[in-house]
Amino acid sequence: MTRSERIQAVRGMNDVLPEDEALWRRFEDAVAGCMAAYGYRRIRTPIVEPTRLFVRGIGEVTDIVEKEMYSFTDALNGEELTLRPENTAGVVRASIEHNLLYDGPKRLWYAGPMFRHEKPQKGRYRQFHQVGAEAMGFPGPDADAEVILLCQRLWDDLGLTGISLELNSLGEIDERRAHRDALIAYFEAHRDELDEDARRRLYSNPLRILDTKNPSMQALVQAAPQLGGYLGESSRAHFEHLQALLRGQNIPVRINPRLVRGLDYYNLSVFEWVAGGLTVCGGGRYDPLVEMLGGKPAPACGFAIGVERILELMRASSADAAQCDVYVVHQGEAAEAGAFQAAERLRDAGLDVVLNCGGGGFKAQFRRADASGAFLAVILGEDEMSKAQVSLKWLRGGAGAGVAGAQRTVAFASLVDAVIDALAGDDEAVGN
Ligand code: ATP
Ligand code: MG
Repeated sequence: MTRSERIQAVRGMNDVLPEDEALWRRFEDAVAGCMAAYGYRRIRTPIVEPTRLFVRGIGEVTDIVEKEMYSFTDALNGEELTLRPENTAGVVRASIEHNLLYDGPKRLWYAGPMFRHEKPQKGRYRQFHQVGAEAMGFPGPDADAEVILLCQRLWDDLGLTGISLELNSLGEIDERRAHRDALIAYFEAHRDELDEDARRRLYSNPLRILDTKNPSMQALVQAAPQLGGYLGESSRAHFEHLQALLRGQNIPVRINPRLVRGLDYYNLSVFEWVAGGLTVCGGGRYDPLVEMLGGKPAPACGFAIGVERILELMRASSADAAQCDVYVVHQGEAAEAGAFQAAERLRDAGLDVVLNCGGGGFKAQFRRADASGAFLAVILGEDEMSKAQVSLKWLRGGAGAGVAGAQRTVAFASLVDAVIDALAGDDEAVGN
């Protein structure tokens, strides 16, 4: 096969390489911990669903359904199928199909790959990952507050600061109708200033025009009639109550009257978590959806986090997490057997250990040890072997660690205790 014939991944679909595994794992562990902390249980739905599910569940006049779906006809049986572009529709379908709400509301979460045929760029891929939660059967606003708090706890657990909450209320469908008429009239009066997308949506989904990312339309959109003025008593009360609950938990909220989610089924609360101008999580209430997909009416709300965008923030915010605890450096035949023994003993004690393989001089081995991310090197050379000793060397300094470069020798027999003490910061000779 020539270079140009070599098969490559589909554009916009990424491999996650081992060097990123620690980051993914840290994120996934934090997610699982937070979901459990709020009583959410995981559901796993298929990656492929009937195309109709998304056309009905997301809405025909949306970016996703209009131009982003990977839809195809199954060549073997003619079924119309789509790679899921999001997971809410699938979760709702599964809830109805398995009658999950028969004995009361359910708290569910999911994680996995989603597929959208978008123009690939940083933070926007064709296969990307979402983690989401759906509080099903709760009319709120306590459930709305809960899913928002869950997100805040996740950011905190990940050590991410600078993700801020924007909130709005879309009211109910009949309230939106009155606003929609005003909006259409306003945009008709400014028809010359509308871009192509906006003109196309003027009558089918004018609300979505407010969500435009076109800079030249921002002024127009800023001055458009606001939905807030059209909310009825009960929608306003729902919104106020949610804000009070969030204030009570010291969650800073920015009310953004132009925040919309253009799907027909959204109602009442909508929110986005934003960092550096990029939305990392979107959510809100979608009371009509369960009934629209054929279920017994049930209110619901939830969110979806863009995993790659959060990982990017984690990358920027923290030093690399260690990939292993100890790297074992060794030289000479006798030392090799000793190194295997030392590594196995350390692993028995629960430590993550990388044993130098492939030989090399001390210098080359220490370069690999540094690259491994280990805190500590365990060194076995001729000298150590002859005295039944090993040397410990700190590779990295920092909080709780010793001083990089500090070194000392211990008896081979007490290796495990010495390493554990050193890693726990109790060691007196190493690093102090
Ligand atoms: P946008 O307006 O940026 O296209 P969206 O409204 O289509 O976002 P949602 O459907 O609400 O996004 O998805 C929730 C989150 O998933 C987004 O806030 C974003 O973080 C992430 N996301 C959406 N599409 C992509 C993509 N193509 N690649 C990576 N992440 C994405
Ligand atoms: Mg999009």
